[in-house]
Amino acid sequence: MKGASRARSLMRKLLPPPLPEMAGAAGRTIIMYHGIAKSNFTKFNYRFIGTADFEKQLLFFKKHFNLVSVPDYFAGAGAKDKITAAITFDDGYANNHRYALPLLKKHAIPATIYVSTAIAAGLDILLPDLIDIFSALNSDVVNACGMIFKKNAQGYYFETKTGSLLREMEREWNIEQKKELRSVLFKKADFRNKKELQDYWQLLNSSEIKEISDSGLVSIGAHGISHHAMTFVAEKDIEKEIAYPKAYLEEIIGKSISGIAYPYGMYDRKHVDLAAKAGYTEQLAVDLQSPEDKNDKRLACRIGLYPNMHCNEQIASVVEHAKKNQG
Ligand SMILES: [Zn+2]
Repeated sequence: MKGASRARSLMRKLLPPPLPEMAGAAGRTIIMYHGIAKSNFTKFNYRFIGTADFEKQLLFFKKHFNLVSVPDYFAGAGAKDKITAAITFDDGYANNHRYALPLLKKHAIPATIYVSTAIAAGLDILLPDLIDIFSALNSDVVNACGMIFKKNAQGYYFETKTGSLLREMEREWNIEQKKELRSVLFKKADFRNKKELQDYWQLLNSSEIKEISDSGLVSIGAHGISHHAMTFVAEKDIEKEIAYPKAYLEEIIGKSISGIAYPYGMYDRKHVDLAAKAGYTEQLAVDLQSPEDKNDKRLACRIGLYPNMHCNEQIASVVEHAKKNQG
């Protein structure tokens, strides 16, 4: 008996988790991806999905869901006995152009990529990616922005006085602090010429952004100037932080930008009004902050997919999110 039960438990470990039961499933949701990489290789970036899992998910969504564009989702698109979903990508990685665009075209699936204008602000890499890759490659003590950072046993850099993690602290930093950290880390380890790492940090350039937009299938949205969390942007800078990326990206694509995704999903009521004033008709968060936000048609929540879960569990999490979000 003991052997049989051990065999059963081993089978459970080897068998993939089941795909969700779709009969009668209905609801609405927006799916949030970040990067797409050749494989689920999480050493350098824990936000990127491998191309094989990504395509498997696209095929599942295409078969079972009513897939719509983000503008159609906000216009209220729905289906009685089906889950309605829109697909989005945050940050604007070159790998979206390299791996996601061909697959979206192959399966004729609409999507929107929310692009940070970090390059225009003088940052060729987003801080979360820089910190992740640097931490995977180095263990040196880092002295930046008047603080000292050391690596803990889990491989994360922390500030020695407060114990706060660098990857969490940087959300609150302004562009000067971000640039200083970038230059300190690149002086210690400039990995930008390492070809095998480029998929994990490279951002879309202007011609790739234009090519994506010209596809007519995948559209471009805004995602802040240099990936600041809106809630930490100084009062005097907030209107620019929201409005500038729209004008900047419209100049590149020659089309109007209608959507904004909040970096880290962080926003408050003031930002919702400012974004509407700037002309955005689609505002994307992750979790909505209040009951008032749930009734605000200018805003929508999303479900993020990450490779720390099995591909099937990621699909199941989307179905669960949509079922709960019937509105
Ligand atoms: Zn982001």
